[in-house]
Parts: sequence; structure tokens; C-alpha cells
Amino acid sequence: MDEDCLFCKIIEGSIPAAKVYEDEQCVAIEDINPQAPTHILLIPKRHIATVLDLAPEDAALVGHLHLNAADIARKRGLTDGFRLVFNCNAGAGQTVYHIHLHLLGGRTFGWPPG
Ligand code: 5GP
Ligand code: ZN
Repeated sequence: MDEDCLFCKIIEGSIPAAKVYEDEQCVAIEDINPQAPTHILLIPKRHIATVLDLAPEDAALVGHLHLNAADIARKRGLTDGFRLVFNCNAGAGQTVYHIHLHLLGGRTFGWPPG
């Protein structure tokens, strides 16, 4: 728990969020400012600031986030196309320094991303 971290506060429950999934390792919440009809954030319960702070022993956790994102995409009928994104550091638009996997779906996406 990082006292200054928005997502740690959401995980702890002191800041509310629309939770769509939870298990012992992660939570999934609706993004407060959705960029697509479905925009969900998969967040590990343990505070990790950026993808660059991941250690080899976190590999299963990162996989776990992706597998749960795929489950949610399947349940929401998004299998024609969805996007999974980790933004890392300011140059990529990271604003909350507790890693989170964006699941975006429900519209078509351009490539390359902006
Ligand atoms: P980043 O830019 O760090 O990759 O993504 C942070 C995401 O968190 C943004 O999409 C933003 O809309 C979302 N966000 C910021 N504050 C809150 C909040 O208080 N609640 C929820 N549910 N999402 C938030
Ligand atoms: Zn945190």
C-alpha cells in the first residue's frame, strides 16, 4: 500500500470505483474517463509503479492480468477486436503510477496509436 497512490486507495476501498472483477491478485474497474464503449483497468493489488519496475517473479502476475482481460472481453462479446495497453512513463501518457492494463473495446481502433 502506497499512501499517495490513487489505485492503492481504490483497492483498499477508501476511494470508490465501479468494480467489475476481483480476485486475490487483482481488481478490474471501469475507467472514470472511458476512451471506448468498454474501458476497463486491470490493476494488481500490489503496488508496482511502472512496467519497468516489474521483476522476473512478476511474470505470472502480468499473465494473470492478461488472462482476466481476455475473459472480460469474451464475456462482453468483444472478440472481434479489442486492445490491451500498458502505458509506461510520461512519454506514453502514464498518469497513475501503479501499473494497470487498459482493456478497450466496442469500437474500431487505428494503428499506429496516437
Ligand atoms: P494511464 O494514463 O496512467 O495509463 O491511465 C490512468 C487511467 O486511470 C486513465 O484512463 C484515467 O481515466 C483513469 N482514472 C484516473 N483517475 C481515476 C479514478 O479515480 N477512478 C477510475 N475508475 N479511473 C481513474
Ligand atoms: Zn498503488
